[in-house]
Amino acid sequence: MAVLSTRIGLLDTENAFKIGPKIRAIEDQGKKVIKCNLGEPDFPVPGFIKEEVKRQIDLDNTHYCDPQGILSLRNAVARHFQTTRGIDADPRRVVVFPGGKPPIGLSQEAYCNPGDEVIYPSPGYPIYESFTRYVGAKPVPVHLKEESGFTLSGDDISAAITPRTRMIFLNFPSNPTGGVASRQQLHDIANVIKQKCSPEVRVYSDEVYEHIIFDGARHESIITFPGMAERTVLVSGASKSFSWTGGRIGWALFPTIEEAEIFKNLNINYFSCVSPYNQEGARLGLESPLAKDAIREMVVAFQERRDFIVEGLSSIPGIRCQKPGGAFYVFPNVRGMCERLGVFDAYKSLPVDVRKLTTPSTLVQMFLLFDYQVATMDRKSFGRIGTEDMHFLRISIATDLDSLKEAVARIAQAASDESGFARFVKSGENLY
Ligand code: PMP
Repeated sequence: MAVLSTRIGLLDTENAFKIGPKIRAIEDQGKKVIKCNLGEPDFPVPGFIKEEVKRQIDLDNTHYCDPQGILSLRNAVARHFQTTRGIDADPRRVVVFPGGKPPIGLSQEAYCNPGDEVIYPSPGYPIYESFTRYVGAKPVPVHLKEESGFTLSGDDISAAITPRTRMIFLNFPSNPTGGVASRQQLHDIANVIKQKCSPEVRVYSDEVYEHIIFDGARHESIITFPGMAERTVLVSGASKSFSWTGGRIGWALFPTIEEAEIFKNLNINYFSCVSPYNQEGARLGLESPLAKDAIREMVVAFQERRDFIVEGLSSIPGIRCQKPGGAFYVFPNVRGMCERLGVFDAYKSLPVDVRKLTTPSTLVQMFLLFDYQVATMDRKSFGRIGTEDMHFLRISIATDLDSLKEAVARIAQAASDESGFARFVKSGENLY
């Protein structure tokens, strides 16, 4: 008899959390690692939010609270969605979670039966694919095309929809590519969904990067199109907007009060409620006029870094890098770098059991980490299905400009270090 259930073996993970111990082991040897692997803004939480959280703790607002989320935060979320999306948003349809991540799995539990199909972007946030098998549903990746800036067309979504489709995940601005869909693309996607899917199919629009948009553009949301509010679960949170990943505050607006009640009950079953003092901090983040400046400062810094890194990486032979419209990642194509270094031949020569655990872009990721001390993420960390011939890295720009300059210099050196790569692979260590 096995100790663990079959189901638990189906759950995948988020590698960004798993690479930490490897980085620490290298740092323990006295080497400085440039961390381009991080999925969190490198800014402090805005001072006015910190003060509010401290004040709330001093008020002893430290007990259990409404499992659906405190009303003041749900009101603020509803108002924020009303003013930024022009939609009707009732606080009774808002549920607060410990971050923007939990509603992903909870939605699949609530909406999917075994055998149902879940459409999600690939490359995409790994938790979408991870939970699909766990709930017994079938993962249906839609591959984002590099040549169209990692966005999606109505036709792309249309080709993936079948009568078994139950949920469609969208994520703009995107992790890991920074891709932003245009209003026209969202309009087309909305039309396809309305034409081809029954009204019960849920669109999960993960908009946690809604504030991190470049070049003066404004955030566009699929929920703004006629008929979409009735089918869309709109998700955002405090982690990225207020640089507050440790606060664990996220929220979702559901199409109906009845659905929100279901998620409230899931909250009761899983964790009872989310810390009320942090919820009050997030509420002030949404309500205070001070938030605008704090967000602007962060976005200006990210845009400057984006401009630098796209140019820096593009000047390295073998690397091609799209210019992202939002979030804080770039997703360069490293196929040419793999060819220069002999990565494909090295990969083919590995024993079968090792090949199962690694990929060409993983070998590049590990070579950069162990021999050049630049931490990045490989392609397979953002969806695995159908990606055998796709060779990319995710580079986070949530690190200061001087470090990014050093990172580009180190990557450029690594990209021409054929003998170093051959030595690295020959050692047989750290290949995944
Ligand atoms: N969605 C996406 C696309 C993300 O990138 C992240 C964080 N990396 C989350 C959701 C979850 O964020 P959190 O739980 O910290 O709010």
